[in-house]
Amino acid sequence: AKQIGRNTYHFYDAAMQKEADRFVHLHNEILKGVQQGQFFLVYQPIYDVQSGSFTKCEALVRWQHPERGLISPLDFISVAERTGAIRPLGHWILQQALVDAKRFNSLGLPLQMSVNRSSQEFNVHHVADEWLQMIAAAGLDCEQLIFEITESLFMDRISVQQNNIIKLHQQGLQLAIDDFGTGYSALNYLSRYPVNFIKIDKSFIVDVATEDKARALAAVLINMAKVLDVQVVAEGVETKAQLDVLHQLGCDFIQGYYFSKPLRADDFIAFIRQSAIT
Ligand code: C2E
Ligand code: CA
Ligand code: CA
Ligand code: CA
Repeated sequence: AKQIGRNTYHFYDAAMQKEADRFVHLHNEILKGVQQGQFFLVYQPIYDVQSGSFTKCEALVRWQHPERGLISPLDFISVAERTGAIRPLGHWILQQALVDAKRFNSLGLPLQMSVNRSSQEFNVHHVADEWLQMIAAAGLDCEQLIFEITESLFMDRISVQQNNIIKLHQQGLQLAIDDFGTGYSALNYLSRYPVNFIKIDKSFIVDVATEDKARALAAVLINMAKVLDVQVVAEGVETKAQLDVLHQLGCDFIQGYYFSKPLRADDFIAFIRQSAIT
């Protein structure tokens, strides 16, 4: 038994070492990728049910790796969060989103820009001041920006993070809870923190037009948001039937492949212009 135990130990040891090596490698690759301009942003339009037009967009990162090709954020964001590479990467993401938001403004398309932020990015003293400075330097108003954060940021109760959140909100920056309903969902943070939007995760949307229970659950989430004076964005809407149900339930904003996949800036501009004509 002792022998097996020792072998087992060595087995895990080797596996853990391999995993650690992979992390270090990916960490270095991400830092290099930021320096060499391998990342780019795509934008997904967000439909405003009330106005019947696209009034917001979400910035989503992509990695064009020189050898491995196009890499999904699902394959590098969580590693970047754990190694700390998310900080330089996130800095680049915000800077690029600001440049593009400014460009959309100058073309007469003043959309609200929603940017994903990882919890780890808030865990830096005075990072809010740095971001506010970047926004001002880009010539944008805070009101034009939304930061998408997850519930875990409130659950962790780390004061540095929460001070940064509160400062940003005080300056007029809006906050959205991403992947709403998929985390620990203690919900009470919704009454304690300044939240402007909840984004209902696509796992709640997929059956909304075909299953009564899924529809009832979406109705509960939307009605709860209304009581709390928080606006609702439905994510992952792919069909007209889903759109119709969500419209009926009083959802405020719709995002998903039904309208458009995330697009590169030039294609996104063409899409928004086209949608304004038709
Ligand atoms: P998320 O923030 O929940 O983003 C929504 C994801 O759903 C995006 O995947 C988007 O392309 C996809 N999506 C949009 N509409 C539909 C639809 O109708 N059907 C389906 N099946 N999917 C749809 P993406 O771009 O692969 O991003 C995955 C995740 O990576 C994001 O989930 C977010 O958590 C993270 N991420 C992406 N960009 C950034 C970033 O700039 N910073 C940080 N920190 N995280 C990011
Ligand atoms: Ca998001
Ligand atoms: Ca989401
Ligand atoms: Ca997410």
